[in-house]
Amino acid sequence: MSAIAPDFRFELVAECSQTSARVGVFHTPHGIVETPRFMPVGTLANVKTLSPDQVAATGAQMILSNTYHLHLQPGEGIVQAAGGLHKFMNWQGPILTDSGGFQVFSLSEMRQISDRGVTFRSPHDGSIIDFTPEKSIQIQNALGSDVIMAFDECPPYPATREQVEKATDRTYQWLLRCIEAHQRSDQALFGIVQGGTYADLRAKAAADLAALDLPGYAIGGVSVGEPPELIEHIVKATTPLLPPHKLRYLMGVGTYREMAQAIAAGIDVFDCVIPTRLARHGAALVQGERWNLKNAQFREDFRPLDETCPCYTCQNFSRAYIGHLIRAKEILGYTLLAIHNVTELIRFTQRIRSAILAGNFADEFAHWLRPADDLAAAARLDD
Ligand SMILES: [Zn+2]
Repeated sequence: MSAIAPDFRFELVAECSQTSARVGVFHTPHGIVETPRFMPVGTLANVKTLSPDQVAATGAQMILSNTYHLHLQPGEGIVQAAGGLHKFMNWQGPILTDSGGFQVFSLSEMRQISDRGVTFRSPHDGSIIDFTPEKSIQIQNALGSDVIMAFDECPPYPATREQVEKATDRTYQWLLRCIEAHQRSDQALFGIVQGGTYADLRAKAAADLAALDLPGYAIGGVSVGEPPELIEHIVKATTPLLPPHKLRYLMGVGTYREMAQAIAAGIDVFDCVIPTRLARHGAALVQGERWNLKNAQFREDFRPLDETCPCYTCQNFSRAYIGHLIRAKEILGYTLLAIHNVTELIRFTQRIRSAILAGNFADEFAHWLRPADDLAAAARLDD
């Protein structure tokens, strides 16, 4: 069909005078996304350990779900029969689905890649599954998410220039097929800029995608194992080449530092499993630091995680209590940490938004905008 999505619009509200950061509002049929903003991940149609009410209370506006995982279970037919993903999972806000490309390339075994698509073995029952650009779009049309992503080939890091060049060309050809296959004008199809760590390949991919006038653009294939300074370099070089009046999404990134740097380069939205995954490991994100609640120092610490945090966890529970729950492996402990961690990363992006509007982003967030060779600040939360 086409890439036209009349119900979607990115409204540019303000721009930073010292960096390329910007404030915007992304309009979707299920509500707005005030940018910059972190988006929590609900891979299997739930943000792990949180109810939709709890997710909404974190300040989340758009959340993510995943085509590959939902295709494997429960299957898009069941989601569609339930009335679509919003109804199935009872989330009334905007939803973005990843195309499955990243998972097919990173998780599945025995895959065979051709220009037609990818064949792989289901990790659930060993059956052979065929993913093509058309199939990915067909699944996402059935799921009914607001933003759907093009099926792309995400090359590993490190990869040779030849490998990356081939994957980037294929990603473009697959995008054209995704546009052709897309059947719903109430869903916005975003293209994904690939190109590995090669700035010229990224630049060409960005120019080719921009010419298609899509409703939004993503930078993919970062945070796949490359060092932080390379991520920053890619994002800084690629973001200015994307159309300014469209939403810009950096995939799979969600540390304080990476988000601040990417926002300064002109990125609007992010997603990452970090806050919920850390919660399941008993770790809290507190004002830029990562704490292990199992540490002895918290046993008799009756203060909240963060006195300045408005979340349900910080308003009602102590570090000692949360540490006790985590040591005892009580499920409430994981939920309380997930509530706080997701709230914390969303608040971080909201604080940046306010700082951009007030004209002091570069000063107020100077700590996070320093170059990546500052190793202490660049410590990555990559488990
Ligand atoms: Zn909190």
